[in-house]
Amino acid sequence: ALPDTSSGWRLYQPSIEDALQKRIRLHEALRIALDNQQFFLVYQPKIDLRSGRVIGAEALLRWVHPELGFISPVDFIPMAEASGEILRIGDWVIDRAIRQLEEWLAAHQVAADFHLAVNVSVQQLTQPDFARSLLHRLLRSRLPAGALEVEVTESGLMENVDLAREQLQLLSRHRVSVAIDDFGTGHSSLAYLKTLPVSVLKIDRAFVSSMDTDPQDQRLAETVIDMARNFDCTTVAEGVEKPEQAQMLIDMGCEVAQGYWYSPPLKVEQFIEFCAERRLE
Ligand code: C2E
Ligand code: CA
Ligand code: CA
Ligand code: CA
Repeated sequence: ALPDTSSGWRLYQPSIEDALQKRIRLHEALRIALDNQQFFLVYQPKIDLRSGRVIGAEALLRWVHPELGFISPVDFIPMAEASGEILRIGDWVIDRAIRQLEEWLAAHQVAADFHLAVNVSVQQLTQPDFARSLLHRLLRSRLPAGALEVEVTESGLMENVDLAREQLQLLSRHRVSVAIDDFGTGHSSLAYLKTLPVSVLKIDRAFVSSMDTDPQDQRLAETVIDMARNFDCTTVAEGVEKPEQAQMLIDMGCEVAQGYWYSPPLKVEQFIEFCAERRLE
């Protein structure tokens, strides 16, 4: 006879239904979030490790729903990717980032060589028109070449290397730089990496956060930095939370860092304040 699981099932069923209901509600909410202006961008400073200067920022998407409150991109980005909604949302992110950067440069609130990075999902990158449409918007904006960077995760990139490469080549020919995000987590093959026009490798937070306590993670970070040097790439360490980590990164030759030690992602006003204060130091 089957074990009696009926009581457990009865206890369990409502919570499965609740979770399902919640997901459906969230999907529905996500579908109309863009049209209802519920998204905004926050900006995390990127610091040149040697000079301490703010040399750029990463734009990160935020969603605050009027009833559900703050919803993390860790939760809603995968939903948007699964539903295809990421294409419209991703377009909005690029437009918003371009307009923000134009504003900052026009008002001299950031340095002339400042660059802004946007995260791009693999679903966006493998649209045949992705690069052309981005470049079209960039050229229309009159931003200096090289002011915009795209961050693509290593795992996303490896999902469809051939399609991704075509798009990235077009971008890099027009001096939009390409960063590989979460580098070291996606088992990408070096043979493939060699064929991609990448100019930045971002060391994943997982390695950085345990670097000062775990010698193995320290060696991994070191390996990424050495590899970046061989590929003529800049290394950016993400998730730097302690001065010891920053010092280790400097000693290893890492060039750029982001993380709570310097600043969390900031709303526009605070970001500009941060830049102004840093310039006076
Ligand atoms: P990511 O691209 O790896 O972004 C870095 C994440 O680490 C951000 O989380 C950032 O707030 C967080 N972070 C920064 N410094 C520290 C630190 O010192 N310690 C810790 N613990 N965390 C730190 P966030 O903003 O929640 O974003 C999560 C992920 O959502 C991003 O990971 C990215 O994959 C995705 N995402 C965010 N915005 C967008 C977007 O506009 N488009 C797409 N496609 N994905 C996005
Ligand atoms: Ca990123
Ligand atoms: Ca990352
Ligand atoms: Ca990450």
